[in-house]
Amino acid sequence: MQELEERIQSEGTVKAGNVLKVDAFLNHQCDVRLFDRMGSAWAAHFAGKHITKILTIEASGIGIAAIAAQHFGSIPVIFAKKTRSRNLDGALYTAKVHSFTKDITYDVQLSKKFLGPQDTVLILDDFLARGQALLGLIDIVRQAGAQCAGCGIVIEKQQQGGGALVRAAGVRLESLAVIASLENDTVTFAQ
Ligand code: 5GP
Repeated sequence: MQELEERIQSEGTVKAGNVLKVDAFLNHQCDVRLFDRMGSAWAAHFAGKHITKILTIEASGIGIAAIAAQHFGSIPVIFAKKTRSRNLDGALYTAKVHSFTKDITYDVQLSKKFLGPQDTVLILDDFLARGQALLGLIDIVRQAGAQCAGCGIVIEKQQQGGGALVRAAGVRLESLAVIASLENDTVTFAQ
C-alpha cells in the first residue's frame, strides 16, 4: 500500500533491535482515515470469504480491527487479552505468546463464548516480526474449531521470518507494507 509506505518513510523511526516506531499514526496516535483505507484494502483481499468475526490482540490491534470491521459488514471484533482479570470469567481459549518488543511470554486468552465452529475468522494485527502473536491467535482459532480465512498485517518485517512461519502453517497472509531491512536506520521495502 503506497500511502502506508510513504507514511513509514516520513514518520517512522528505526530503533535498536529491529524495531520500527510508528507511533505518530499507528501505535499511539491513530490516523483513523488511514485505518479506514487499510480496512478497505483487506476487504478487497478477502472478498467473498464470508468472514463472521475479526480476531486481534490487545492493545494496538483493537483500533485497527474495529475500523476495518466496518468494511466487512460491521461484524464483531474480538481481541485476545494478555492478562487475567476478574472480568474474564468462564471457559477460555489460551495460547502462549512471546512478545517481541517486551521480551516476555504472555498466556493470551479469549472467552470461549465468543468463538466457535460456526465462525470464519480474519486475524488482524499491527506488526508481524517473528510470528509469535499470529501463531498464538491461529492456535486459538483452531482450538475453537473455527475456519481461519487468513491474516491481515499492517507492517510485516520480512527479515524476521514470521511471515514464512505463518504461511508454512497453511494460513493466507496479506501484509499492507512489507519491510525487507531496517539496517543502518534505513527502511527498505521488499520488492
Ligand atoms: P511477533 O509476535 O510477530 O514476533 O511480533 C508481533 C507483535 O510485536 C505485534 O503485535 C507488535 O505489537 C509487536 N511488534 C513487533 N515488531 C514491532 C515493531 O517493529 N514495532 C512495533 N511498534 N511493534 C512491534
